[in-house]
Amino acid sequence: MAKGDVDFSKFAGVVVLTNATGFNEDLYGTPGPVTIAGKSYAIGGMVAEEDKPMNEIFHEAGHSLGLVHSRMTPPRPSPTTATRGTS
Ligand SMILES: [Zn+2]
Repeated sequence: MAKGDVDFSKFAGVVVLTNATGFNEDLYGTPGPVTIAGKSYAIGGMVAEEDKPMNEIFHEAGHSLGLVHSRMTPPRPSPTTATRGTS
């Protein structure tokens, strides 16, 4: 079955697991819209490597279903503003 034969509007989303390994692939999830072969669909989508931990894949699957983070993550300190302990 080719991508042109599939009516993606009948699905909740598209999951792409690539055979890339070693954290070289994007890890991404979106509630949509998703564009496939030039056509936009009101569905979610996600991309991950096949060797990502399942909790990270599930995290992005949640984004593809419209879930957002339940809390803010603190900003990472920049190297110039990070405090250093005295010793
Ligand atoms: Zn997230």
